[in-house]
Amino acid sequence: MGSGGMVVMDNTNCMVGMAKFFLEFTTDESCGKCPPCRLGTKIMLDKLNDLTEGRGKEGDVEILEELSYDIIEGSLCGLGQSAPNPVLTTIKYFRDEYESHIKDKWCKVGVCRRLTTFFINEEVCTGCGACMRACPSKAIIGEKKKPHRIIQEVCIQCRTCYDTCRFKSIIIGPADYKGDPMALLKE
Ligand code: SF4
Ligand code: SF4
Ligand code: SF4
Repeated sequence: MGSGGMVVMDNTNCMVGMAKFFLEFTTDESCGKCPPCRLGTKIMLDKLNDLTEGRGKEGDVEILEELSYDIIEGSLCGLGQSAPNPVLTTIKYFRDEYESHIKDKWCKVGVCRRLTTFFINEEVCTGCGACMRACPSKAIIGEKKKPHRIIQEVCIQCRTCYDTCRFKSIIIGPADYKGDPMALLKE
């Protein structure tokens, strides 16, 4: 970022979260000389925080797009002129992720903690216990070689179990999901 670097990501990265990460960088770096950059990037960052924390509303994506063009047009130097690019690019290629954060309160890759519920697919779980050992809040229970289970009241949505399980047994659902986890696999 800012030095011609390249970042390689896979499908376990949240694109809304990545846009937020880059906006945090540019709001920190803005010298404050021109209002579109100084204030506009801050407003965009607030909006992205809302999206990743479950306060996203219909129309937020359009507001982000409008703000982006205003900032690009009204900024004096390259920092402000390029600051909205990560937002515009992620909206262009991953608009569905933005919509899912807003409409379904669901971060499908399980990065935005307030927009996820984790489950274990009991049909696939081998009972190896790796997730149970790795879970920082001791939210997983189960006997050896039998399907394990997550106690939702204890889970802190850290995604460690998802990253640990070699059998792809972890299902990621929307915030406070109370339905059948198996139904999520069809979405
Ligand atoms: S666009 Fe450049 S000059 Fe204007 S506030 Fe941002 S960093 Fe400063
Ligand atoms: S790591 Fe995966 S397979 Fe092993 S117990 Fe946990 S969910 Fe089951
Ligand atoms: S998301 Fe984190 S806290 Fe929740 S069950 Fe998985 S490892 Fe434990």
